Amino acid sequence: MNQTLQALLSLQDTDRQIYRLRAELQRLPQELKVRHKKLSDMVTMSNHCRAEAQHLRSQVKEIEDSVTILRMRQRKLEKECNSVGVDAALLASYQHEIRTVKDNISEAEDDGLNMLAEADEKQVQAEQLETTVVAERPDFDALSAAVKAELTEATAKLEALDAQRTNLQSATIPEDQLTLYKGLLERREGEALAELTDLVCQGCFVSIPRNLYVRLARGVDLVQCPSCTRILYVR
Ligand SMILES: [Zn+2]
Repeated sequence: MNQTLQALLSLQDTDRQIYRLRAELQRLPQELKVRHKKLSDMVTMSNHCRAEAQHLRSQVKEIEDSVTILRMRQRKLEKECNSVGVDAALLASYQHEIRTVKDNISEAEDDGLNMLAEADEKQVQAEQLETTVVAERPDFDALSAAVKAELTEATAKLEALDAQRTNLQSATIPEDQLTLYKGLLERREGEALAELTDLVCQGCFVSIPRNLYVRLARGVDLVQCPSCTRILYVR
């Protein structure tokens, strides 16, 4: 086999590992980020539910205060009704106001009860979310530690491979062919070379003309697949 091709094949082996590691280095933190967001969304949601419950309870408190005032008014009116010297017209007006006050009390109490129920519901929701967060936290911490360890390992491996790559590159590959290889590596996601088996490029699975195979077999220059442009080799 062509000496350059041989060197490119070794380089390709290293680059394949480098690409794989780089993908891993991107994927792992991304995965962790997604998990972290899920947890922090739950925390935000539970805080939101708690705040809503608190707001509802303070509204209930206001309603209770206004009911107290209304009851005082009711008692005062009832007292007025029983006082001496109340004529029929005034009595009727007092009684009318008493009815209105009673209606207002009952309406306010209904509102208060509804709000209290809603506040309880929000409280339960908040507690459920907090329980889930607490339960999922150890899993997340474990994943986080694992990712950190994997990243450290991958980074060290990548450094070693980069050094290996520099050695291979400086070996026997002429500049223009190295440039061609690097361009292909980038365009073809880390696979710049493709094996040719029975006249079929194993990179894109398209058949190549026989004359290209003859050129390749002669081993003088590099031959690219007419379809995917990868540098071809035969074992
Ligand atoms: Zn091809």
